[in-house]
Amino acid sequence: MPRPISATLSLSALSQNLQVIRGIAPRSKIWSVVKADAYGHGIRRIWKSLAATDGFALLDFNEAISLRESGWQGPILLLEGFFSPQDLTLIDQYRLTTTVHSDWQIEALKNATFSQPVNIYLKINSGMNRFGFPPTRIESVWQTLKALPQVGDITLMSHFAHADGPEGVDGQMQQILAAGENIVGPRSLANSAATLWYPHTHADWVRPGIVLYGASPSGKWRDIADSGLRPVMTLRSEIIACQTLQAGDRVGYSGRYRAAQAQRIGIVACGYADGYPRHAPTGTPVWIDGVRTVTLGTIAMDVMMIDLTPCPQADIGSVVELWGGNLPVDDVATAAGTLGYELLTALAPRVPVTVTE
Ligand SMILES: *Cc1c(COP(=O)(O)O)cnc(C)c1O
Repeated sequence: MPRPISATLSLSALSQNLQVIRGIAPRSKIWSVVKADAYGHGIRRIWKSLAATDGFALLDFNEAISLRESGWQGPILLLEGFFSPQDLTLIDQYRLTTTVHSDWQIEALKNATFSQPVNIYLKINSGMNRFGFPPTRIESVWQTLKALPQVGDITLMSHFAHADGPEGVDGQMQQILAAGENIVGPRSLANSAATLWYPHTHADWVRPGIVLYGASPSGKWRDIADSGLRPVMTLRSEIIACQTLQAGDRVGYSGRYRAAQAQRIGIVACGYADGYPRHAPTGTPVWIDGVRTVTLGTIAMDVMMIDLTPCPQADIGSVVELWGGNLPVDDVATAAGTLGYELLTALAPRVPVTVTE
């Protein structure tokens, strides 16, 4: 018998989530963001369930090539552009659309020879200060690119830093509008949060990532609970041992949990080497037999301990859901002080993954 842990991916949830996003942004095309191997789900496993998308966006050349070679004929956008001038050969060969965010990339384009013009996403730094040209330079950079025979279509692009929080998008929208005041052409601005909550940012192409996988960009499940989005990944394991503690007994490394009274606990085959967050404190939710219970003590490499008080019938072999259809990954992430993004992308290679409809 293999260890009982496994992740199951619901392909119907994935394609339904894409439909939900279509409904939310009906006038925009959709770049389905599949960076980080589709947020930990595996691009090759899942891309066909997103084939109704208009394009796929990612940032790793190996992932782009893998997607192309597995049969996707449509647009592929490199969100961080190319990392060296040599990469332009791959962009030409695999017909990739590339972000341009820095002057050296323009020089590289000037010196390149392509079999056909390359489509460009020109990045505006509207305040996040990671990638892109300042708004005041966008018009002249756009003119420069427009004049190059190597360049095909140019789309203006920017990325929001606070679309998931109280600050919103207004400040950055002003910068973006100013940058593109005299430029006619398509725009792509909205990540998941902006797609959900700021329709005026939708423009020509939205770029949703996390919502495709059924988790919340704000980290709070209640923010998307009524949207029709469904979790794609369910991580399950089983109880592989049980203990009955007496008052004062401690549990696990550093004995960080101490029983106040007699208490039955289950040992679950899931630890931080499976991608479960080691920082999840006592009280992080897990789901078993239709009820929520909690972790106790320090998460170990291979196991965690859980309280069986609310589910006395649970025993060795009982199935435990760590996150998924019954327990939003956002709730687990919140307890662990992080976001669903980090938990999903951290799923470890040793966890077997199966896909279902
Ligand atoms: C990751 C990323 C996205 C998608 O972000 P989500 O919050 O997952 O929707 C969109 N655009 C860019 C440039 C990104 O890097």
